[in-house]
Amino acid sequence: MASIEVRNLVKQYPGAAAPTIRNADLVFNDKEFIVLVGPSGCGKSTLLRMIAGLEDITSGDLLIDNQRVNEVSPKDRDISMVFQNYALYPHMSVYDNMAFGLQLRKVPKDEIDKKVKNAARILGIEHLLDRKPKDMSGGQRQRVAIGRSIVREPKVFLFDEPLSNLDAKLRVQMRTEIKRLHRQLDATMVYVTHDQIEAMTMGDRIVIMKDGIIQQFDTPMNLFNDPINKFVAGFIGSPSMNFLEGEIIRENGLLGFKSKNVLFGIPDPHQAKLAGHVGKAVTFGFRPEYVYDKAVEFTRHLSQDVDITIDVVEPIGSESFNYFHFNGNPEPTFCFRTSTNTLYKPGQVITIGTDIERLRFFDESGERIA
Ligand code: ADP
Ligand code: MG
Repeated sequence: MASIEVRNLVKQYPGAAAPTIRNADLVFNDKEFIVLVGPSGCGKSTLLRMIAGLEDITSGDLLIDNQRVNEVSPKDRDISMVFQNYALYPHMSVYDNMAFGLQLRKVPKDEIDKKVKNAARILGIEHLLDRKPKDMSGGQRQRVAIGRSIVREPKVFLFDEPLSNLDAKLRVQMRTEIKRLHRQLDATMVYVTHDQIEAMTMGDRIVIMKDGIIQQFDTPMNLFNDPINKFVAGFIGSPSMNFLEGEIIRENGLLGFKSKNVLFGIPDPHQAKLAGHVGKAVTFGFRPEYVYDKAVEFTRHLSQDVDITIDVVEPIGSESFNYFHFNGNPEPTFCFRTSTNTLYKPGQVITIGTDIERLRFFDESGERIA
C-alpha cells in the first residue's frame, strides 16, 4: 500500500530561533507500525503534520510510495489523521460522524453504509451508531474518531497522541486495539506519543527524537539493548537505566571504573573499547534488569563485587523494585528489580554484580563508547 520516505527534511517555523526538524532521514516500509517518540516539544507533531501535508516543508523531500508529494495537498495524499482531541461533531450521531467525510466526497449512500457498518464492527461500536458523542465515554469517542479514519480506507494512518486523554487502564486497552486494527487493516501507521511504554509496546520500529533531531530509529529490543547514546538509554526502559558518573582508570595495566568509593575492574569485552578513555570522565550505565545479588546468582558472568545498601523496596506483586545506594557513595539512588521470591529490607547490605555483557559506557558528550 504505502511506504513513506523523508529525505533531509527540515522544518523552520517563521520567527523561530532554530529549526524544529533538523535534517530528518527516514524510510518507513509499507504496512509498518512506526512510532515517533520523544519529550514534549521535540517536534513529533510537526513531523507528522508534514507527512499529512498540514505543515509546509522548509526543505528536503517527502515521498509516499516513491512519489514526491511535497506540494501535494493533504486531501490528495490518501492519508488520514487521528488527533488527541478527536473533534467529533457534537450534534451528529456516531453514524453521521463517520459517514460525513464520505458524504462530502459524494460516495454512494449504500457504499457509505457498508463502510460505516464495517468500521463499527471492527471497533466494536455497532451498538452506538445512533448515539451522540456527548453520551459516550472517552474511549468510545476515540473509537469513533478512529472509525472516521477507517471508512476512508487511506493508504496511511497517522495518529497524534490519540490516547492521551484516556485514563491509564483504558489507554492500555486501546493500544492493544490499535495494534489489532493495524493487523486487520494491513495499513502503514505512524503513531506519535511521548510515552516510551506506549512506543515500545506498539511500534514495529521506533523513531526517538530530541530537540528536532532523530536520535535513533530501530526496533524496540534494539533500542533497549543497543542505545546509541545516553539519552536513548535513559529514555527507553522502566525503571530507567541507572547512571553513575566516574572515570576510567588504569591500574597494573588493567582498566577500571572509579566513582568516589565505587571501584571495579572493566570486564574483558569492554577493555579494548575503553582504552582510549583512560583518565576521562565517563558515565557508567546499567539497567535494573541486569543487577544480581551475588549471594543468589552463581551461574551468570557478573562484574566484580560491589557492596550496596537497600534504601526502599517497592513490591508490585510480580516483582520488586529495590532502590539502593553504593556503600561509600550515598548520593544518588539506583534501582534493580528482583522477583518477589527475594524480599529485601531497607538498610540491608548486599553484594551485587551486573551482567558484564550488559554494562554500558557513555562519554562526556553522551555518545555510547562501550
Ligand atoms: P511535540 O509534538 O514533540 O510536542 P511539536 O512538533 O508540537 O512538538 O513542536 C516542536 C517545537 O516547534 C516546539 O518548540 C513548538 O513550540 C514549536 N512549534 C510548533 N508549532 C509551531 C508553530 N505553528 N509556530 C512556531 N513554532 C511552533
Ligand atoms: Mg505533539
